[in-house]
Amino acid sequence: MLLFDKVGATISEGISLVRDREIRLGVTGLSRGGKTALITSLVNNISAFGLKGYEERMPRFPEYTSMGITYGGIAKARDMSVTRFPYGSIMKSLEQDPPVWPESTDGISEIRLEIRYKNSHWYLLGEEQRIFLDIWDYPGEWLMDLMLLDMEYEDFSDKCLERLRVLDGVVPGGDFFKAAAALDWQGELNEDVLHDAVTAYTSWLRNCKEQGFALLIPGRFLLPGELRGAPALEFIPCPVPGAGRDAGSSSLYAVLRERYNYYRDRIVRKFYRECFSRLDRQIVLVDCLKALRGGRETFYDINDSFDTLLKHFSYGSSDFFSRLFFPKIDRVLFAASKADHITNDQHQNLLSLLKSMVLGAMQSVRASGSRAEFVTLSSIRATECRHYKKGDLDTDILVTGYEDDKPYFPGSIPAKWTRADMEFFQKNFDFRSLRPPRLGPDRIIPAMNLDVVLHYILGDKL
Ligand code: GDP
Repeated sequence: MLLFDKVGATISEGISLVRDREIRLGVTGLSRGGKTALITSLVNNISAFGLKGYEERMPRFPEYTSMGITYGGIAKARDMSVTRFPYGSIMKSLEQDPPVWPESTDGISEIRLEIRYKNSHWYLLGEEQRIFLDIWDYPGEWLMDLMLLDMEYEDFSDKCLERLRVLDGVVPGGDFFKAAAALDWQGELNEDVLHDAVTAYTSWLRNCKEQGFALLIPGRFLLPGELRGAPALEFIPCPVPGAGRDAGSSSLYAVLRERYNYYRDRIVRKFYRECFSRLDRQIVLVDCLKALRGGRETFYDINDSFDTLLKHFSYGSSDFFSRLFFPKIDRVLFAASKADHITNDQHQNLLSLLKSMVLGAMQSVRASGSRAEFVTLSSIRATECRHYKKGDLDTDILVTGYEDDKPYFPGSIPAKWTRADMEFFQKNFDFRSLRPPRLGPDRIIPAMNLDVVLHYILGDKL
């Protein structure tokens, strides 16, 4: 019976896919990169589809008008066992006075959107069509764990030691090495001594995160979710080269290897299967401004993170049947998020920075036959750009909707990641922590380039 249920589910899923009625969108972004903001804005704006005058907000999503979109909204959940993306509570925080940015999410959630339109194909003329867009949200802290999928405990230990070494000048790892030195790798497990070493390693990860570094593994050490206190999180990388060589089956080394394997096979793999393994399209959010503020180390860290991460997705064009059994991402959109922090005249430079930052990842995406595009994006736009001209002064400036905020010119963005340019940016750019915009009576979230995103993700599927 179970097998029949499974076959039935695959067939009905297959029918939706074969008819191309379902798009599974992955939003990939490091922690605090803007994932929750983008998903919220997509849900909010798609829910405004069909409202009078909405097409004026979508000039670069021509299919909105040409395909006659009539409706958009949240649809019934596809999988009843997955938490629903907390859209309602996020909107509450954005609608309160004054509005506040939503909290980052601490678990997996999903939301399914339905879009209706009048198909213009002659054989369907006048008939209303539907398409579904499924989006997952998950904590960015967990994303880096995907790189563990093809790592043995020894590789994991080597990788962590390399990170500890490289970052030592910025985030010293001395406390971890001291705590780990008290462990007897060939002897029996002592949970208390091990726990001290786990705590020291976790504090080091936390300090790295505070400094803006992204490549932090294992991700659940930073955000354990339902695993808080579980033995599955009581392991550390082994800092003693060759310690595994003579380790017996009941040694500390063997126990830690077993816990690591459990973490990789039962936790990370499940996360991968639930969130990423069946994606059709992907938006990769990159916070270039954060990388600029963080300097060279943060830049290389974010750069490496994306190169390593994107290797774990399958790219390539695929026909209907292979999409069913071997799903592949056929379109990727790299987006420089939070672009409302800069004036319009700086967007070209931000785009150049984005392109050079993800060059390696983009080349491998294209080499496998997928399309890749770039965009600057603000999902929840907190400023507007105006032109200011008085006397000799002729410049773009930013204004917010708050009376006590003065208009300002934040500064220019370099077109290249040179050390001098980054230092100049760090000294001179006025990076403000912007308050979220007050929503108008229509409750539609203002965004920048969301129409470009929708065109790229949905345009060809309508
Ligand atoms: P996540 O951890 O990837 O889900 O990141 P969030 O979407 O929660 O974003 C983290 C923070 O970045 C938010 O709390 C906002 O302060 C800021 N942010 C995200 N998107 C935007 C945007 O479009 N404009 C501005 N000004 N800030 C943003």
